[in-house]
Amino acid sequence: MYKSITCKTALNHLNSNYLPYEWDLNIYRGCLHHCQYCYALYSHNYLNSGDFFGSIYVKENIVEVLETQLKKQSWKHETINLGGVTDSYQAIETVKKFMPEILRLLIKYRTPISISTKSKLLLRDKELFEELAEVAGAHVAISVTTFDEELRKKIEPASSTTTERFKILEAFKGTKVMAGVLMMPILPYLTDSEENLRTLFKSAREAQADYVVPGLLNLRQPTKGHFLNFIKTTFPELYTAYVDYYSGKADKKAYRQTVYGRISKLKKEYPLTPKQRPFPRGPEQLTLF
Ligand code: SF4
Repeated sequence: MYKSITCKTALNHLNSNYLPYEWDLNIYRGCLHHCQYCYALYSHNYLNSGDFFGSIYVKENIVEVLETQLKKQSWKHETINLGGVTDSYQAIETVKKFMPEILRLLIKYRTPISISTKSKLLLRDKELFEELAEVAGAHVAISVTTFDEELRKKIEPASSTTTERFKILEAFKGTKVMAGVLMMPILPYLTDSEENLRTLFKSAREAQADYVVPGLLNLRQPTKGHFLNFIKTTFPELYTAYVDYYSGKADKKAYRQTVYGRISKLKKEYPLTPKQRPFPRGPEQLTLF
């Protein structure tokens, strides 16, 4: 179900020293990609719909409102993060086509962006990202968990395949667009094996990614309830292990050391050569372990 809404402001200021951007912009509320671990489920609590994956709210006036904010004398051209709460390239964007208009505005007002996605649709706007990278700065991140397609269909059913997501990085090789991998969330007992992490690190290197930022699954309500229920019905053999881990019964420290050890080893095996980054604070500053 899609519902049209209007917004009063397009940009929300973020007061954080640890994030590599100052502003957040979300075109949509809710996300059709249906990732079972989605941390943004809480955002629908503020609406009269609890169905984050099924009720998508579309900010129809986002482009006009954004231009009003960007053309102010006081605008400092700080970095905007697109889609911190929902994916800007989910299915409805094929029809709405807000992103090309937003990118043209950012080019016009010389404003850098950072965006992460799980959708190959981003490549529709490839030239605009490259133009923005030339005049202000553009940073594109793909978020990935596994190359196992059967598992991907269960945990991220409406996203692009992992292979398709890596093609985004391939497409920006040799351009000024900074492109990286958010290897997250790493799901305990499902995507944390050395074999799985190796395929992702290897692909990141082959795609000449500028960085890889890994992060373990962190569960807070209401995502915790949703995800544990998903595990109970889809992977019942893992349910007890998950409950123990996320209730603090299991030895989290030992587990994290094991996974972090794998990652440190793989980082050395698949070193990356980042291009000079256009932002004062880079995504590698994110510490998610
Ligand atoms: S793509 Fe992002 S916002 Fe959309 S469901 Fe997945 S995790 Fe949530």
